[in-house]
Amino acid sequence: MPAMTNFTLDWQPKFGNLGETFASICPPAPLPAPIWVAHNEVLRDALGLTEHLFKDESFLSAMAGSSLLDGSSPKASVYSGHQFGVWAGQLGDGRAISLGEIQTPLGVQDIQLKGAGPTPYSRRGDGRAVLRSSIREFLCSEAMFGLGVPTTRALCVTGSPAKVYREEVETAAVVARVSPSFVRFGHFEHFASIGNIEAVRSLVKHVVEEHMPSLAEHALDDKQRALALLQETTQRTASLMAHWQAVGFCHGVMNTDNMSILGLTLDYGPFQFLDGFNANHICNHSDNQGRYAFVKQPQIGYWNLFCLAQALMPIIEEQELALHALETYKSLYPDFYDMRMREKLGLSDTQVNDRTLIQDLLSLMDKERVDYPLFWRRLSHSVGESSQSSHAFEPVRDLFIHRDAIDAWIQRYQDRLASLDKNNTSKEMLRVNPKFVLRNHLGELSIRQAKNGDYSMVQSLLKVLQTPFDEHPEHEAWAGLAPEWASDIEISCSS
Ligand code: AMP
Ligand code: MG
Repeated sequence: MPAMTNFTLDWQPKFGNLGETFASICPPAPLPAPIWVAHNEVLRDALGLTEHLFKDESFLSAMAGSSLLDGSSPKASVYSGHQFGVWAGQLGDGRAISLGEIQTPLGVQDIQLKGAGPTPYSRRGDGRAVLRSSIREFLCSEAMFGLGVPTTRALCVTGSPAKVYREEVETAAVVARVSPSFVRFGHFEHFASIGNIEAVRSLVKHVVEEHMPSLAEHALDDKQRALALLQETTQRTASLMAHWQAVGFCHGVMNTDNMSILGLTLDYGPFQFLDGFNANHICNHSDNQGRYAFVKQPQIGYWNLFCLAQALMPIIEEQELALHALETYKSLYPDFYDMRMREKLGLSDTQVNDRTLIQDLLSLMDKERVDYPLFWRRLSHSVGESSQSSHAFEPVRDLFIHRDAIDAWIQRYQDRLASLDKNNTSKEMLRVNPKFVLRNHLGELSIRQAKNGDYSMVQSLLKVLQTPFDEHPEHEAWAGLAPEWASDIEISCSS
């Protein structure tokens, strides 16, 4: 494959100097007739890339995996993991190829092409991704970023007429995704499972030194470093789970190979933002047991951290130390969660009954499947209006059928807010309760248009989702309830 020389990016090797144990050289397989589907101007600028790149045929070709950027060195990495609670053995980047890491104003970033062809870890897969799932990952990563949720990012989507066979024939696409690191819990599990403890040690060192410099200063030997990593990832995962639960995000496939060591949302597959609140919602059509139901996510985060700890045990050595680090999850998660939910309610201080206030609200919403994003946005406005009007909470109670129960809750809430400045509180709430989330039907509409060659909705939806707390009056319809047909959308792992 010819290398291009038009662009000078400052490439670094993937995994620093860890070498072949971690990743195999693997050039992307060219896709015919690539086209731009969408690109992310906000991330482009943040990475210090020029607008000109996205008008250039050779950069297009590189982002589709059809040619190589000068200096890049394409690699696929190996990992293993627990899938649906069962040890699945070796997996790996079956359809993701890293071009390498680049120096950017955001620090070192790994640029990975998802769907760029088979790798040594593709097993029976074709190494490809379809347009539908690539648009979903592109939009959702940026929607999460817009909401302030830790996540990998997405720079662009390219498409091709090449056929890809799933439940039906679809066309191929490639998402260029970007993250400081795509290292997963499963990477550690992999090397521990094959008894290559030296590799686990090197990977710990790499992650801590490259991505957690504040830990590197204090964790001086291998044992301290592994323990510090476990503690840090425990904290980040607890924080991530609190973010997911607060924004109403269901990941759908929380296997350990989809868990980021940096605590980022990773691998967007059958995810879904809740429309009507349903604590037991299962977004993944293939998840028959409901292992990854919305309400179970924090618990699964903890389960997955146990797998990580298990892989680090040969280095940490003392079980008590590892258990202690894991145990902190039990107070970290509820604290993060309460903090996020108090923000949503506009409560700037903490009171003992706050947790009950939140739980009672969620159980009312759950009983009536009240629209989750709409409830919070309306509540934010109502609080502001309550300083002038005694009917301020009408739009909120309109969302409920059983008015007595919600009226009683609103009364408790108003009592709780009594000492706060309503206008300021409302403003704060509007900064954390989004007007726009990537509801399933919005993604679906943009995908339907894209399948017909019209990519305009993908691009305009991206802009709205990147600033989801702004009003965007021209897109009012995207802030409303999901239409009836949205409940029929089935999302499976097939992507
Ligand atoms: P996921 O459930 O998407 O995280 O995928 C689990 C594993 O299967 C990972 O190792 C993926 O890289 C791999 N995989 C998923 N889809 C494909 C595909 N179409 N071709 C090759 N590997 C795949
Ligand atoms: Mg995955």
